[in-house]
Amino acid sequence: MTTRKPLISGNWKMNYTHLDAIAVVQKLTYTLLPADYDRADVSVHPSFTALRSVQTMLDADGIPIALGAQDVHPAESGAFTGEVSPSMLAKLNVRYVIVGHSERREHFGDTDAFVNQKLLAVLKHEMIPILCVGETLAEREAGFIEDKVVGQLEAAFDGVPAQAAEGLVVAYEPIWAIGTGRTASPDDAQAVCKAIRSWLASHYRTDVADKVRVQYGGSVTPTNIAELMAQSDIDGALVGGASLDAEKFAQIVRLGRTAS
Ligand code: PEP
Repeated sequence: MTTRKPLISGNWKMNYTHLDAIAVVQKLTYTLLPADYDRADVSVHPSFTALRSVQTMLDADGIPIALGAQDVHPAESGAFTGEVSPSMLAKLNVRYVIVGHSERREHFGDTDAFVNQKLLAVLKHEMIPILCVGETLAEREAGFIEDKVVGQLEAAFDGVPAQAAEGLVVAYEPIWAIGTGRTASPDDAQAVCKAIRSWLASHYRTDVADKVRVQYGGSVTPTNIAELMAQSDIDGALVGGASLDAEKFAQIVRLGRTAS
């Protein structure tokens, strides 16, 4: 069986100035130990205005926390007021880029096709997409969970060769669990994460599916991370609210990392 190193990612959303961001990363580095980094990859996703400051700090001090972005525009450059291109992120040593977060899909009209363009652009610039998929409460209640998620996967992975697909991260984020304090039960989360891996195996190959890291996201806290991480197809977490608090986020990393 392939062992996948967990990836614990903090999505700070529209919070923190660059000064606050530096303070949070500083606190995180005081708390996290070499054993934490050995047994989990950790990424933080500040807002665009804080990326440069956080990058400078991580690079200068050799801190093994990966820099992540929350979104990207797929075009290389051009008349896209307010947007940020993949090469701008790559130049800042951004390693992971979230694409298709449900808040982007809901509030900013990101379609499946646009998410696919973003994902391809991130790969082209040798960064790693964290592709978010997940169902609404109404879809869950209508039994439309796997169909929704598989539809999102089919669109997002369009044109992605197997060699690139295996390095990707997929975050299963049931929309009703994001920022609500409601978490999918470990069994329910495992069932969808397993379905994601099965889709990857049938679309590509089993060895590709075995390498893809599947995160769970939706009200993850220090209290629920361990039982989620005990599931065989959950390889990490995309954490929103709880990642804003350095102590809580460090606890999540510690409890979510592999045992040895
Ligand atoms: C998220 O932003 O992706 C998220 C899962 O948020 P929260 O942890 O606050 O539910």
